[in-house]
Amino acid sequence: MDLQNITLISFGYFEEVFLRDIAEAVKQEYFFQVNIKEGRLDLSEFYDPGRRQYDGTKLLKEVDSAYSSDSNKTVGLFSVDLFIPILTYIFGQAFLNGRTGIASLYRLSNERYGINTADNFISERFKKEIIHELGHTFGLIHCHIPTCVMRSGTYVEDIDQKSSSLCPGCRKKISGVVI
Ligand SMILES: [Zn+2]
Ligand SMILES: [Zn+2]
Repeated sequence: MDLQNITLISFGYFEEVFLRDIAEAVKQEYFFQVNIKEGRLDLSEFYDPGRRQYDGTKLLKEVDSAYSSDSNKTVGLFSVDLFIPILTYIFGQAFLNGRTGIASLYRLSNERYGINTADNFISERFKKEIIHELGHTFGLIHCHIPTCVMRSGTYVEDIDQKSSSLCPGCRKKISGVVI
């Protein structure tokens, strides 16, 4: 096991250049080596026909048990609509102080149809979402600093208003874990 290592597992048939761009942004924020891998999951097992969405908690557990053993932190990247029972949808979720998170770009486009991963908006939002979920795996909870990536967001506009970086307070909390 290579410590100081983050792995992004692509379950969404993302383009390589798109993934490499995200990996670079994650690396700049956490100073870990970032690897990209392709994942294979039968997503139909996670589909909830009543909600016509995918069960985020089940997916998070699956990624954690099947894909997270050889990295310090792992994030599963999806392009399907995720939910948890209490919310209409989620952008992603993670185990607090754990080793795994998931994120989806499904809700990150303004219209959610004809998602174009070359769209800079989508890419920036997805980066922030992934860096946010990783923050949870490093033990960070939500932050009230408006520009902090750990600020919670319900709408894409919330994501657009924050930066892709941890505020000094959040960074200090994980110093010792992250350089
Ligand atoms: Zn959060
Ligand atoms: Zn913060």
